[in-house]
Amino acid sequence: MARMTAPEGGCAVRMYRQGLGDCFLLAFGAARGKQKYVMIDCGVLLGTANAEANMQAVAKDIRTVTGGHLDALVITHEHWDHVSGFVQAQQEFEKLDVDQLWLAWTENPRNPLARELRERRRMALEGLRSALTRAGAAPQHFSHRIQSVSEFFGEDMGLGARATTEDALDWAKQQWKNHRYCDPGGTPLSIDGLDNVRFYVLGPPADPAYIRKSRPSSRGGQVYLDDATSGNLGLYLSALNAAPAVREPYQDERRFTPFNEAYHRKDPAHQDVQEISCRYQATDWRKIDADWTAAAGELALKLDAHTNNTSLVLAIELARDDKVLLFTGDAQVGNWLSWDDVTWSGDFKELTTGDLLERTVLYKVGHHGSHNATLREKGLERMTNGELAALIPVNRKTAKTRRWRMPHEPLYERLVEKTLGRIVMADSGLPQATSDAAIESFLQQCRETELYTELDVHPWKPVAAPAPATRKSAKKKASTTRKTATKKKTAPRKRAKKKTPAPVKKVRRRR
Ligand SMILES: [Zn+2]
Repeated sequence: MARMTAPEGGCAVRMYRQGLGDCFLLAFGAARGKQKYVMIDCGVLLGTANAEANMQAVAKDIRTVTGGHLDALVITHEHWDHVSGFVQAQQEFEKLDVDQLWLAWTENPRNPLARELRERRRMALEGLRSALTRAGAAPQHFSHRIQSVSEFFGEDMGLGARATTEDALDWAKQQWKNHRYCDPGGTPLSIDGLDNVRFYVLGPPADPAYIRKSRPSSRGGQVYLDDATSGNLGLYLSALNAAPAVREPYQDERRFTPFNEAYHRKDPAHQDVQEISCRYQATDWRKIDADWTAAAGELALKLDAHTNNTSLVLAIELARDDKVLLFTGDAQVGNWLSWDDVTWSGDFKELTTGDLLERTVLYKVGHHGSHNATLREKGLERMTNGELAALIPVNRKTAKTRRWRMPHEPLYERLVEKTLGRIVMADSGLPQATSDAAIESFLQQCRETELYTELDVHPWKPVAAPAPATRKSAKKKASTTRKTATKKKTAPRKRAKKKTPAPVKKVRRRR
């Protein structure tokens, strides 16, 4: 099978269609027709039909079209739908060489703050696990919430014996030993032989207060809300802090009873007890267990959100002041809010997050299109580029069985407006062909098979000289282009805005 290729200076983005989960393969066209490959995540939600076969097919494809070599592997965060492939398709991945494994700073075992966050997560998970084993008679919503969290962590909680996200991540780290733990800001990352492409790390936030912020503000306006989700937000447990307290009661049941022992009735046949029991059983709201199970349910949600907020977020710039591809993992509110605090060093000092968002032409929609993983004013509304397209790694059928609204309707509608319909979904594939010029030229950049969808991103300014050139002169040309671009920082953006949308013609590939 042929290698996956991108035009020189450009990028091809392959989104796999394994189900609800992320797996992206990016090819970058380097000098002299060489290709560089970056993979971002590889997983599918627990409980997906044929998960192993699907992930093996994906892994096999990745191995084949990259020649068994990745220049970088990015794992955004520790959720099953982003890492399961490293368990389910191990035999394929064993044969894959990876130069560098990029992980968020929150995964760094040498970082004390990261260790603390991980320890809290471990305690919270343990608390939930023990809650679930005792939750036989718990109200539905409780086990439901815990169940969905367990799906993200790859566990059948209480049933044991299944590989977890931790196992998947540990395996990847063992397999590919050149780890790089990424902090936001500083100098952008790069790949050898790919001088013009820069990977700006926007998150996870260095400040853990942002990691804890997983919900939209109660004042609203931060996300794309509908009626059902607005209001009354922010009244939740700070799960990680509450974790030990939630965990303790299960170890000592007496501490969990609401009344002092002096008030306990010892004789079950006593008339009072019978009476109380009847009243207690009659209505749900009288049952005190609903209270603590609800708290555990909230804890489950928090745990989930905080893990999402540790997502490694990359803004990938094709050349200086050129197009940007935004990969956010499953970052939620706090992660997005922190991006404006990020500062860059040296040559990149002037760069702002607003600038990167303005030049974003491809947005990998966060958390499969859920309501709290794409910020509005501080996020999508700042992606003003006329060429904007979106990729949503979602499977609506699966989401529906979990009662998740993915993609969240108001967000999806806004995406349609912002992208003029240039939205690719993992389940349905490419947008329908229409007579619309924006869609028509977009479709020319795209391909799809049952296994994946793929689209090309061409730079505004091709970095290489159009005519065949010697190595030396090509280098000289590239550096001149960079200098010019630095001087006129806003030039390419302005030009792009004028031709809204700027159609990228296939002809530009033949060079
Ligand atoms: Zn996910």
